[in-house]
Amino acid sequence: MQGGQHPRMEVMCHVENCRFYKNDYCHADKIEVNPKHRDMAHNSDDALCSTFIPQ
Ligand code: SF4
Repeated sequence: MQGGQHPRMEVMCHVENCRFYKNDYCHADKIEVNPKHRDMAHNSDDALCSTFIPQ
């Protein structure tokens, strides 16, 4: 990526009680994903969507 451009992608999500969830997709403008522990994830359980807000 050059010039400060960010990728655009669809995010399929199945967290039905999130405020941004609709019809199996995320409708947030952007999401942030962080490792559960320090700076490393060892499997998908260690990578968490920090944008999640319960509704
Ligand atoms: S914010 Fe995270 S948990 Fe919520 S719908 Fe989007 S991807 Fe799923």
